[in-house]
Amino acid sequence: MRKFLAVTALLLSTTAAFADPALEQKLDAAINPAEMGAWLKFLSSEPSQVGSPFNKTIAEWTLAKFKSFGWDAHIETYQVLYPTPLAESVELIEGKTVFKATLNEPWTKETPKPKDKWLPSYVAYQGDGDVTAPLIYVNYGMKEDYEALERMGISVKGKIVIARYGQGWRGLKPRLAQEHGAVGCLIYSDPRDDGYSAEEVYPKGPARPPGGFQRGSVQDITISSGDPLTPGFVAGPGKPRLTREAAPNILKIPTLPISYADARVFLAKLNGQVVPPSWRGSLPITYHAGPSTAEVHLKVKSDWSLKPVYDVIAKIEGSTYPDQWVIRGNHHDGWVFGATDPQSGHIAVLAEAKAIGEMVKAGWKPKRTLIYTSWDGEEPGLLGSTEWVEDHAAELKAKTVLYINSDVNARGFLSASGSQDFSAFVGRAAASVIDPETKVSVDQRLRAKLRMGPFDPAVKEKDEAKAVAKAAADPSTVVPIEALGTGSDYTGFLQHLGIPSLDLGYNGEAVWAGVYHSIYDSYDHHSRFVDPGFVYDALLAKTAGRMVLAAADTELPLQQPEAFADSVALYVKQVKKLADDKREAATIQAGLLKDHVFRLIADPTKSSGDPKALAAVPAIDFTPLETASDRVSAAAKAYEFALTEHGKALSPAKREQLQKLMLTLDQTLAPEDGLPGRPWYKHLIYAPGRQTGYGVKTLPGVREGIEEERWDEAVRYISITARALNAYAARLDAATELLTAP
Ligand SMILES: [Zn+2]
Repeated sequence: MRKFLAVTALLLSTTAAFADPALEQKLDAAINPAEMGAWLKFLSSEPSQVGSPFNKTIAEWTLAKFKSFGWDAHIETYQVLYPTPLAESVELIEGKTVFKATLNEPWTKETPKPKDKWLPSYVAYQGDGDVTAPLIYVNYGMKEDYEALERMGISVKGKIVIARYGQGWRGLKPRLAQEHGAVGCLIYSDPRDDGYSAEEVYPKGPARPPGGFQRGSVQDITISSGDPLTPGFVAGPGKPRLTREAAPNILKIPTLPISYADARVFLAKLNGQVVPPSWRGSLPITYHAGPSTAEVHLKVKSDWSLKPVYDVIAKIEGSTYPDQWVIRGNHHDGWVFGATDPQSGHIAVLAEAKAIGEMVKAGWKPKRTLIYTSWDGEEPGLLGSTEWVEDHAAELKAKTVLYINSDVNARGFLSASGSQDFSAFVGRAAASVIDPETKVSVDQRLRAKLRMGPFDPAVKEKDEAKAVAKAAADPSTVVPIEALGTGSDYTGFLQHLGIPSLDLGYNGEAVWAGVYHSIYDSYDHHSRFVDPGFVYDALLAKTAGRMVLAAADTELPLQQPEAFADSVALYVKQVKKLADDKREAATIQAGLLKDHVFRLIADPTKSSGDPKALAAVPAIDFTPLETASDRVSAAAKAYEFALTEHGKALSPAKREQLQKLMLTLDQTLAPEDGLPGRPWYKHLIYAPGRQTGYGVKTLPGVREGIEEERWDEAVRYISITARALNAYAARLDAATELLTAP
């Protein structure tokens, strides 16, 4: 690893203990990177996808570990729909010549030699099918790509599309293809994005080799996560289940990922227009949109039987507040060996559990109850965590103070997202751990990075980046953490139940996207390229461990809502501006259309049509949202002041009353209404975007209403969201009253 001596000499390290300093010391002393590396090596020695023999071995091994650390642990099993491939093929047919895509990745000597078969090229929850049709290239396969194709006069109806990975979430590609009438979908990773253009390819370097591809799930988790046959309730014996045909988040068209070595052959057969510059990758071909004269034959048949998922649940009962739970989790299932995803985060959970177990053996007792979890079935659709959350919903809502999630971990900066009233909590934890590369606190290093945010060309929301940079520049100011969409096991807690949640991980320096969900995400890859020496995996354990210790013993509530209030105020400004910008764009475009500008600038030798006319944007009254946001700001300020002034002197009885009020504070943001067309998603401030997949949409009911031109819905959700924000403010006011009452 590189040393940063020059930087270290310039900066003074300023860490301050976050939890009890004696406990922090014990935590750090117990975390052993070499031991974590050995765990990771074992956990990534065989394929661990749902239903595989090693998946069950890992659950049992993890259970035994928790027990040996002194935890009260058990496994909870759910039977869920999880398809596996029975037959699949992708062929390019040109007259009598047939080219067959290789649906297995080439093994390398650095890759484990497993006893069990690994999963070939596959995406879970696609549709069965056997189709033959010409091929069309759709770039990243996002909404704007289809709009561009339409202007080129190209329809994907009855065709098979080939999309490259990137921009939006994987599952959107086949979903949008299906919505546009395509009969099949191929997905490949262009070497421009995470292959040889990005870095040397594996095994020489960390990037994607020509034969690699990305498995994954295409279950539409923007509607709901978990078992697709039991949305909103637990998959249990005797419980109702939807039929597969009726499940709204299972796709209908066959879809397979292929390697870029094979994609090159398919793409080279496309005719028609040369694609726009931003659509071109770095394969040595001229990229055409198609269609091809050669036909593609795509066949997928899956086994749609139920499979078991094994959640490992470990508990240490709280001494003072047994009915207040702090939950920590990471999944244990991978697509193949899963060294980085998920084992890098899973070994942090184990290391923390071991350290906490030792503290308990030495006589310490957490005041609150600690629950450590190792989820199964995250990869196909957050199956294990969602079923568990749905199974125990009432108890979780009544008792959970905080859920802390992790998943993938790598060398780099702390990335913490989630409930923004925990921003100060996260900041204090980050200030208490040292970054191994720069020897300054993780908080100092992160603030340095955030100050550069506004200069990053990839950052779209400049106003937000500027506000964050301003906060980061002042060490005494709390930096709001990022909002959460979906993509890991916090979703059921945060989005469905409204339980405050955090998602933690280090990242930003290691190149590993090219091996994500491939057989090359191995011990060799992780230990050479992602986190040499397992120092950042150990750092994750130290960071999350401190949060758990602090959450376990801090008697005053953990939320500091001012950072949340500031973020909400910013989001309200954003949605207002969004409506204004859309209104202006529609007016300008109407003028361009009227004056035939698109036709006048078009190259007559290429086919191109006018873009679809943008809808005129009506006047929208944001007052209820603005008023509610102001009310949250005022309530947050008053509460934080009252907490600082009177918190420490509260009588135990009043303190418990305060804890009660604040334990369910965040749930006021997730009332029963749910989001339009996807009532499983209850949170009105954070949700995954219907058109972005994992990526977050803040104030989703309002924002998506405007983005997708459903004006009545936007107006309705202005009032529903304002109501939730008012409830949040009212709860804070009640807490302030309790704090200030004589
Ligand atoms: Zn994962």
